[in-house]
Amino acid sequence: MMTCHALLLLGMTPHLFDSHLHTPLCNHAVGHPREYAQAALDRGLAGVTFTDHIPMPEWFDAPWRMRRDQLGEYVQMVREAQQEFGGRLEVRLGLEADFHPGTERYVAEILAEYPWDYVIGSVHYIGAWGFDNPEFVSEYERRDLGALYRHYYALIEGAARSNLFDSIGHLDLPKKFGHLDQGGMSALHALDVIAMQGLSLDFNTAGWRKPVREAYPAPDLVRAAAARGIPFVLGSDAHAPAEVGYHFADAVKQIHDVGGTVVTYAGRERVGG
Ligand code: ZN
Ligand code: FE
Ligand code: FE
Ligand code: ZN
Repeated sequence: MMTCHALLLLGMTPHLFDSHLHTPLCNHAVGHPREYAQAALDRGLAGVTFTDHIPMPEWFDAPWRMRRDQLGEYVQMVREAQQEFGGRLEVRLGLEADFHPGTERYVAEILAEYPWDYVIGSVHYIGAWGFDNPEFVSEYERRDLGALYRHYYALIEGAARSNLFDSIGHLDLPKKFGHLDQGGMSALHALDVIAMQGLSLDFNTAGWRKPVREAYPAPDLVRAAAARGIPFVLGSDAHAPAEVGYHFADAVKQIHDVGGTVVTYAGRERVGG
């Protein structure tokens, strides 16, 4: 019998899930869930988990997410894909939630509304600045990078301590446009909290499509996370069906090379690893 690693060297990806996928309901993705599911099947994946951007209070980042009154439509679309691909591909229901201080109760309400399989907690804002939005990239020049990362990882620790999420999304996201973290101490401290809280990390291959040309988290942080026993959940962060399973062989190799484990979530419980 061939090992998982041997199969990967042959370009196959057995048992793997893509657990970070968006839908057109967020207004910045294309492709019906059934097209994402078909792409996953074509790439030999075992399953997918849809994790579209969670509805938030009206004042928060409204153009980039579904409205609250669309949540039922989202769940319905995913359930239809689930039925359609039954027996061929496992389809699970999740969300990419935002951690933004003051909105925890709103998020908790949404999480109580449906039986989610998996919830990612992501920080996309430092204060009012959407730091991963290419439109506002010039703001990096006004900031002290060290202070920026300290502030960012303090928010990540808040996310980890909130007890709202299963994993932390794209851990070192502020590097997206090439502004790398020079220190790294606050990242390591955040990993300690993530480990203590029993969370996983979104191994997010979208970074390989961005100016930084590196997955989230960076290789050093993947090693540090594995050393702390933190598992990884593979995700392409696809905003189009063609991105499903993006660079998964590289991702699995990177994780295995440092002794890390790959897991998925069903009914908000860890599976595998
Ligand atoms: Zn998005
Ligand atoms: Fe995100
Ligand atoms: Fe995402
Ligand atoms: Zn994302």
